[in-house]
Amino acid sequence: MSNQIKISFPDSSVKEYKSGISSLEIAKSISNSLAKKILVASFNDVHIDLSTELTENGSIKFFTWDDIEGKKTFWHSSAHLLAEAVESLYPGVKFGIGPPIDNGFYYDIDFMEYDSSEINTSKIEKKFIDLCSKNLSFERKKISKKEALKYFKDKGDQYKLELLEDLDDGKITFYNQGNFTDLCKGPHVPSSKFIKSIKILNVAGAYWRGDEKNKQLTRLYAISFPKQELLDDYMLKLEEAKKRDHRKIGKELELFLFSEKVGQGLPIWLPNGHIVREKLIDFMYKEQKKQGYQHVTSPHIGSKELYVTSGHYEKYGESSFQPIQVPSDNDEYLLKPMNCPHHCEIYNFKPHSYKDLPYRIAEFGTVYRYEQSGELHGMTRVRGFTQDDAHIFCTIDQVKDEVIGVMDLILKVFKSLSFENFKVQISLRDKDDNSKYMGDEKQWDKAENDLIESVKVKGIDAVVEYGEAAFYGPKIDFMVRDSLEREWQLGTIQVDYQLPQRFNLTYVDKNNEKKTPVLIHRAPFGSLERFIAILIEHCEGNFPLWLAPEQTIILPINENVIQYAEKVNATLIDKGFRSSVDKRNEKISKKVRDAELKKIPYMLIVGDKEMESNSVSVRKKTEGDIGQKVVKDFIMGIQEELSNATN
Ligand SMILES: [Zn+2]
Ligand SMILES: [Zn+2]
Repeated sequence: MSNQIKISFPDSSVKEYKSGISSLEIAKSISNSLAKKILVASFNDVHIDLSTELTENGSIKFFTWDDIEGKKTFWHSSAHLLAEAVESLYPGVKFGIGPPIDNGFYYDIDFMEYDSSEINTSKIEKKFIDLCSKNLSFERKKISKKEALKYFKDKGDQYKLELLEDLDDGKITFYNQGNFTDLCKGPHVPSSKFIKSIKILNVAGAYWRGDEKNKQLTRLYAISFPKQELLDDYMLKLEEAKKRDHRKIGKELELFLFSEKVGQGLPIWLPNGHIVREKLIDFMYKEQKKQGYQHVTSPHIGSKELYVTSGHYEKYGESSFQPIQVPSDNDEYLLKPMNCPHHCEIYNFKPHSYKDLPYRIAEFGTVYRYEQSGELHGMTRVRGFTQDDAHIFCTIDQVKDEVIGVMDLILKVFKSLSFENFKVQISLRDKDDNSKYMGDEKQWDKAENDLIESVKVKGIDAVVEYGEAAFYGPKIDFMVRDSLEREWQLGTIQVDYQLPQRFNLTYVDKNNEKKTPVLIHRAPFGSLERFIAILIEHCEGNFPLWLAPEQTIILPINENVIQYAEKVNATLIDKGFRSSVDKRNEKISKKVRDAELKKIPYMLIVGDKEMESNSVSVRKKTEGDIGQKVVKDFIMGIQEELSNATN
């Protein structure tokens, strides 16, 4: 046996090292500055501690704070230290799980007999930083299941004991740092000294394993950074995010409401919000028309059989709203969790020839899915929402053009609403294991290629992820970055080989043979509720003119000009604008301030001077005063602004 191993690097270069070398030592052999920066490595695509000894040939990758993998490991390691800090301040507490999340990490803790008022987050933070500065390393130890069970039995931690039950003997590892040992498969950052700052962001309740029947634990949400300045920046952004919170702005602008009486997670659109929603629907409706979609309407419930056929019952049946019983027969109905099955039945309404394809049907369909109350969040996570859904039934040869068409639609949405930063991910099959995917191999190859090609045609840089495709087809996802640089998934294009088979959909091809069409699911907005929430936070409630619930407001300076103000207002309304007059007996400065709070794009101030010249003094929400304009010219200007906005 050779005691040399061959290590290949992401740039395809290969170097030989002595067997048993660690990835940290390999990094050092490349450069000291790299070695100082790396937090975790992967060897043959498995994440490992930097100290792990390598004894076989393989490929290595290094990750720093700048990589998602680096951040996740950093936060995961921080969770261990947070637990140690908590345990040292509150002896006897028990621990659930402590995973990293998109921004930071949490740990679920049973504080036992400690009262919640005793949980002092700043004391915990101080202790945490104290531990970090001690340069503690995370030491890995393989342990038998028996020993592991004994350890946590002696400690009296029933949560870890429960977690252990699900693990196989021989695959269990403990990690120890300082005075704290945790059940964990790793990896971790090399030492606690990399962690320089922490903030406990929230203390919340969380049922053990997300089950309401279990005990409610205390979830500490926190975030940590390798520099104090990074935490300061993050806290500033968080403040800004609070100002932009769609739940707050939704209330201030009277866009929507949630009522306990109506039911949790069931949004109600108020008149102002209804306008935004309808305008988005109009916009999408027109764009879809241009692309040859036909619009349909299907009911909010469907027979249980429908969803058994589609497979959605299996996915949503048990864990979502339960079937609706009816008095007259044995039928059961479900609240519609997806529009696809209804659309498959629409396709089946008549026979199809290859000449009718692509067959594109669209619906603003409201669907219902039960989310646990702890998962509900404003408009971004609700129990009833409307999708701008559509299904394209086509031949395999048409997939590429259809995907390009859908991308055009998605890009149009982004452009019209100023989402300039976005990322695209193409999810394909696992390179090494094709067994778990349904459908014809050749068709898959073609569709995957078509997705890659269509992204190229649009000149978009996309990340290709292998193994991320659904078992029924590959997909493209669009992730936008909002003005606070948060990432949101918006817009999905999904190829599906399964549903057409489940519903026995067919068409007759050129040779008069029956074929199964391919189905493309797509929703540029996703759900209108979530989309509008993201839009609100992105533009801080300053909707573009075409979406603003109220577009213009006339502010008369004195009583003499009220009649004139009403005349201007009537002209605007006549031209189709959403406009009003502030007739209150208030100072003009107060009227301007109030209109600004309502985020109305244009304030039109009128006094004697304006009345005499049939004009208005224009104040634009984001720009301030832009001067006096003749009413006719002002209207022409905003008409042009409107037509440019969505064209
Ligand atoms: Zn860990
Ligand atoms: Zn669908």
